Amino acid sequence: MISEAGTRATSSWPRLSDVARDVLLEVLVHGPLSRVEIAARLRLSRPALTRVAKALVARGLLVEGDTGPRATAGRPSELLHVRGAAHRFLGVKLTAERLFATVTDLTATPVATAEEPLRSSAPDDVVAQIADLAGRFPGVTGIGVTLGGIVLDGLVARDEFLRWHDVPLEEAVSRATRVPTAVDNDVQALTAAEHWFGPGAGLKSLAVITIGAGVGTGLIVDGGLVTGSHGLPPHFSHTLVDGNGPRCGCGRRGCISSYLMTHVMLRRLPGRPTYAEAVELARAGDPAARQVFDEAGYALGVLIGTVANVVDPQKILLTGDGLPLYEIASPLVHDGIEDTYEGDPDQVVLDVRPFDFSEWARSGAALAIKATITGTIGDRPRQALLDSPSNTARASPPGRMPRSESSTRHSRW
Ligand SMILES: [Zn+2]
Repeated sequence: MISEAGTRATSSWPRLSDVARDVLLEVLVHGPLSRVEIAARLRLSRPALTRVAKALVARGLLVEGDTGPRATAGRPSELLHVRGAAHRFLGVKLTAERLFATVTDLTATPVATAEEPLRSSAPDDVVAQIADLAGRFPGVTGIGVTLGGIVLDGLVARDEFLRWHDVPLEEAVSRATRVPTAVDNDVQALTAAEHWFGPGAGLKSLAVITIGAGVGTGLIVDGGLVTGSHGLPPHFSHTLVDGNGPRCGCGRRGCISSYLMTHVMLRRLPGRPTYAEAVELARAGDPAARQVFDEAGYALGVLIGTVANVVDPQKILLTGDGLPLYEIASPLVHDGIEDTYEGDPDQVVLDVRPFDFSEWARSGAALAIKATITGTIGDRPRQALLDSPSNTARASPPGRMPRSESSTRHSRW
């Protein structure tokens, strides 16, 4: 199903100086800003900013506008906006059975979506399916693919849902589509997307907790996404709630995930209902369902309290397709926070966000946007500094794009 087709935009990203990239980012993350505000935020002189802004307008990335949905104060005539239509990006989220896609503009605003079952979960078949999909959205500047596994530098080291090990997905999709591609863990990508384009925009510290088929945690600390030295996203799933609790997949009892993941909640209920049925049972006061939801709610509170203890974030975003849990068991969630968080529980800013599954795919597009702007996508050159006279000496030669066929990295499958 394609809800809107016919997307088209410039498909190659211009080379930008570091300063130009910072100015673009500032407007992208904080919304339309006046030149005075941008210069102050980035500590740039007015002449420097004028030069950079002129280059960004000339390249079609910024545009003069009077008002915008995210505009705050400032003289209307001086506001600079990101020109969203300048570039399009394709985001793809892979689950065990399905592929969700969203095409966005440069501001991560969706312009088209698609969803289809995976023809097979074999890596070659999935890559071919992504390439077919990309063919329906010509002209995209970058592709971002996310999945629920461990991703190291574009390599899917492990994905238990797809049963993949060591799949060089970034390279394969980039080669098959001839479009620069970024691949990351879905929760990491969602966290970065919320930090650039969502309710966490511009925060110095943020935690994103997703609940549903899995339990995910993403962290922004000092304005940057936390990625471990071994590529692992933050993990709190096996924090102990009750040593006499349900058996966990890790072999112990009573971990957060042994209460919280959708399928373990359902396994604990008689008759093996669907999640929707279990939600209805709990809402209707069914004792068994209430107990399972209350215990899961408490475990969620322990998770939130633990994350708050570690990071003390400005905000904790709670989202995911398991959100009915919060609605049903929020008093227990707050009990869990109170019993775990060592500070004043009232200081925990919990932002519960309704979740649409297409948000996962949108965050794939946001991943592509971020990787494109920061120069970390696919095989793009990592430093590209041509438009500022002062940076000319640091200019690097043009990189190969798309990724060379002769690359031998991760060439096993
Ligand atoms: Zn466990």
